Amino acid sequence: MTTAAAGSPRTYQVRTYGCQMNVHDSERISGLLEDAGYVRAAEADEQPDVVVFNTCAVRENADNRLYGNLGHLRPVKAKHPGMQIAVGGCLAQKDRGDIVRKAPWVDVVFGTHNIGSLPALLDRARHNAAAEVEILESLEVFPSTLPTRRESTYAGWVSISVGCNNTCTFCIVPSLRGKEKDRRPGDILSEVRALVDSGVLEVTLLGQNVNSYGVEFGDRYAFGKLLRACGDIDGLERVRFTSPHPKDFTDDVIAAMAETPNVCHSLHMPLQSGSDGVLRAMRRSYRSERYLGIIEKVRAAMPDAAITTDIIVGFPGETEADFARTLDVVREARFSSAFTFQYSKRPGTPAATMDGQLPKQVVQERYERLIACVEEITWAENKKLIGETVEVLVAVGEGRKDERTGRMSGRARDGRLVHFATGDLAGRIRPGDIVHTTVTYAAPHHLNADGAPLAHRRTRAGDAAEAGQVPRTPGVLLGLPTIGAPAAPPAPVGGCAAH
Ligand code: SF4
Repeated sequence: MTTAAAGSPRTYQVRTYGCQMNVHDSERISGLLEDAGYVRAAEADEQPDVVVFNTCAVRENADNRLYGNLGHLRPVKAKHPGMQIAVGGCLAQKDRGDIVRKAPWVDVVFGTHNIGSLPALLDRARHNAAAEVEILESLEVFPSTLPTRRESTYAGWVSISVGCNNTCTFCIVPSLRGKEKDRRPGDILSEVRALVDSGVLEVTLLGQNVNSYGVEFGDRYAFGKLLRACGDIDGLERVRFTSPHPKDFTDDVIAAMAETPNVCHSLHMPLQSGSDGVLRAMRRSYRSERYLGIIEKVRAAMPDAAITTDIIVGFPGETEADFARTLDVVREARFSSAFTFQYSKRPGTPAATMDGQLPKQVVQERYERLIACVEEITWAENKKLIGETVEVLVAVGEGRKDERTGRMSGRARDGRLVHFATGDLAGRIRPGDIVHTTVTYAAPHHLNADGAPLAHRRTRAGDAAEAGQVPRTPGVLLGLPTIGAPAAPPAPVGGCAAH
């Protein structure tokens, strides 16, 4: 047991930057620290005993931001003997020992492949009164075998693979997360079952490229089979996944989505660009025709499917004609939402040194046109749902104005955000419960349902939320008797655009 000098448990805080992978890794960092006896610091606590930065390397200024934050903590640490600072994640994997050279008050640097070592590194650094830097070149243990402190009672992330075998020229993932490693289907399904046993209703299968799942053990249909196997898990109401790569998308995945009742009809499939020339420069081996072909098949099999995407504007060499092609594909694909990014150089990626880097104002102007085009379409698509009944899984923190408007919020099965009036059920609906309601209004990014709910189902996840419990599930599925618990799908933490 790790204890503070006064005999009380040491407190910790994890600060997360970057994509869903990092958000889920932070759940593991929290689970590991709690298993080691640390307790989460209260939100207002300005002096936790341990601060962990889980960093992201995809942004141009990510390192400035990290060193700025570390600089702020220096005087705090000076006033708080025994405080420790750890830096992990992609930037740690990239900068390694440079971090303690630039910020010698940092105690531990750990990489993306050895999250499990963090508690031991903290202990060792404290014992030796010296910084510990441990970076491994490749993964030794699949991270999902680590205990996990999940954030939600009703939804959880489950990793199916880590790393990526592609070489997209704007992406730092292959060099920092390594080659794809696939987790065995049995381990994945055990974790899903453990989550469901603790009341979780929705699971999101997570990988850099879920469609290539199985490449390591030689089964290119493994992902479709995994979706179908999730369909056999009693009590699992919603299955989502992120992110597929259009190159590896096979028809059997579409069939599995359509034929497995608990798999949601929502698909997040990164487009990145509608121009074949830009896709070639990005080293993305599909072309717009193939991308639109997949969408056509998805819609034929699931007419109610909501398709979302990521798009990068202003990739080096992008011409006005290339950009116009992206707008064409956006119009044709009729996305229900799109995460749009202005291209910015990511140090260490091939694209960062390509000719044809575009001036900021060109990128900005295209970006604004893209957003206007996307919003016109998402709004039109959302309006089609007015008058429809939707099933909403009630969420925490999805509606910023809920308190003022008296509504609650959650996600429909297709992933759309719904703000709904609670009517006579005010005070009785809990996060994690299921509500059926009728859409009365559509905006580009959300739906409102202002009539009384048609139905409300209390769930075990709702009971747990009401009791303030975070359910705990066996976090270690490969033998060690440790305990972890389930997760909210975090709102997309802007910026990675990494697929
Ligand atoms: S963008 Fe996605 S598919 Fe491409 S290299 Fe990065 S992680 Fe892999």
